[in-house]
Amino acid sequence: MAQSLLTIDLGAICANWRALAQMNAGETAAVVKADAYGLGAEPVAKALADAGARTFFVALAEEGVALRNVLGPDVTICVFGGHMAGDAALIRDANLVPMINSIDQMLRHVEALPGHPFGVQLDSGMNRLGMEPAEWSALRDIALSQKPVLVMSHLACADERAHGMNAFQLQTFRQMTDGIDAPRSLAATGGTILGPDYHFDMTRPGIGLYGGLPFVDARPVVSLAIPVIQVREVNPGESVGYGNSWVARVPGRIATISAGYADGIIRAMGPKAHVWAGETRCKIVGRISMDLIGVDVSAITKMPETVELLGRHQSIDMLADAAGTIGYEILTSLGGRYARRYVGG
Ligand SMILES: *Cc1c(COP(=O)(O)O)cnc(C)c1O
Repeated sequence: MAQSLLTIDLGAICANWRALAQMNAGETAAVVKADAYGLGAEPVAKALADAGARTFFVALAEEGVALRNVLGPDVTICVFGGHMAGDAALIRDANLVPMINSIDQMLRHVEALPGHPFGVQLDSGMNRLGMEPAEWSALRDIALSQKPVLVMSHLACADERAHGMNAFQLQTFRQMTDGIDAPRSLAATGGTILGPDYHFDMTRPGIGLYGGLPFVDARPVVSLAIPVIQVREVNPGESVGYGNSWVARVPGRIATISAGYADGIIRAMGPKAHVWAGETRCKIVGRISMDLIGVDVSAITKMPETVELLGRHQSIDMLADAAGTIGYEILTSLGGRYARRYVGG
């Protein structure tokens, strides 16, 4: 079989959620947008609900509808994108809580679904989503009289502990919300780690659940085993792969493994990336193809049936470094061709 195997450890996801929950006194929600960062919203959210998560966040109302079908009526499902035109029926029927981002969204919401729960998203400096201070001043009394279930904002630089933006956003959020009755939330994974000043009534971790930085102590969640299709000898001067970009200088051995950029293995990482054959780190050589990758296995005496791209030896963040990206993008790029196996949970 040439299909790669992606193993997703639901037990590790739940352990990470519990560890993050222990850092803060308030509620710990779970962010499962983008199909739980590519790992499968259905199994992931079910496991987290069993572990005790009561509030889930998604990006789009459509994701919220799918999640409601999986989790049933007893959890709160919040939508970061708020209440978009055309969303009213989805929000009503699936009982979603839109995080209202603007005066326009507020008007749309109270007009279409009077009395339906909502939250408010404020912009404390990131300039991405949420009401700016002036907009919030204008709307604040009316919005608060409708009893929002949450008032939240998002940090732009929480993965850098010493960044001045953190304190600036904290201060801005406080100025916008101190004294209100509604529960407040500012922290995702990074903000949770910044400490209690950032926790308020609820934290909203995503990447930390899935084993990524900045949660340094996270348990690894994914492993990816890629079958070796062929092993061949190369002589000095022979090239490997498209464009002859890698040429052997010494006699060696090349394994061709069964995955490529169509599986989310970012082509640009080729020159810097490695896989592990047992306990040995082996360099990727030549260009990453759509379905195949060449690996220098000259140092291997007994070739295993599969090599590891993600797992015990190589985290999503190590692989992200090779690709010049972040663990989030490695996870959400993971392809649809892998066999997926869920363990634990
Ligand atoms: C994605 C997201 C989160 C989760 O962030 P992580 O860094 O993955 O923990 C929390 N809040 C908002 C608004 C988000 O967009």
